[in-house]
Amino acid sequence: MPEIILASRNRKKTREVAEILIPHGFTVIPVTECGDVPEVEEDGLTFAENAAKKAVQTALFLRRWVIGEDSGLIVDALGGAPGIYSARYSGPGATDEKNNEKLLQELHGVPAEKRGAGYLCSVALADPEGRVQIACEGTCRGRILTESEGIGGFGYDPYFLIPEYHQTFGRLSSVVKHRISHRARAFSRFLPLLLQIRHRFGDSSAVENGGNSVPG
Ligand code: IMP
Repeated sequence: MPEIILASRNRKKTREVAEILIPHGFTVIPVTECGDVPEVEEDGLTFAENAAKKAVQTALFLRRWVIGEDSGLIVDALGGAPGIYSARYSGPGATDEKNNEKLLQELHGVPAEKRGAGYLCSVALADPEGRVQIACEGTCRGRILTESEGIGGFGYDPYFLIPEYHQTFGRLSSVVKHRISHRARAFSRFLPLLLQIRHRFGDSSAVENGGNSVPG
């Protein structure tokens, strides 16, 4: 099975990406299972720059095919914040809980009709020589609630309402999220291009656990 490294240290995100790629015959190996890979500084000015940087630097270090993924939440009433800073919105030591707390504080008093937001996901594939071969994006619109609903997904999901479904990503099943999310949409563009160059991947099956390395 062709192997791809995913340059993300977010376990839940890694799991989502693996669930999207496994049905297409790819083995997804989290970068955290590749030894001592240096962390990539996310200092790009856009999601696309950060996704490419994660892919290229990790590919050059490991000399493997690597997917870089950068994503986040863009809130209309906050001028696009937290945007590329979504993971570290609440500052050093940020957690999903602290980030959500800050988001609610910043949106305090903002009425429902002005709480529109979107998730954006940027994906890049770098070859073992560190050249970007594919770059795609996907978005998903929603609205930020004042109270959490559900415990599924990760990050801002319990507050992110999908109006068409009247439910948050915290409540919707992963099957639905994998159909309509920003990540699903980015990968639905990415996949056909990936399949076109699949023959260029080594066909090593030397994965320690003999299968897909999805975090539990
Ligand atoms: P990254 O790992 O630097 O790309 O940061 C991603 C951050 O954006 C996460 O830590 C979340 O805060 C947010 N985010 C991205 N995608 C999602 C999602 O699907 N659900 C909830 N939050 C997300």
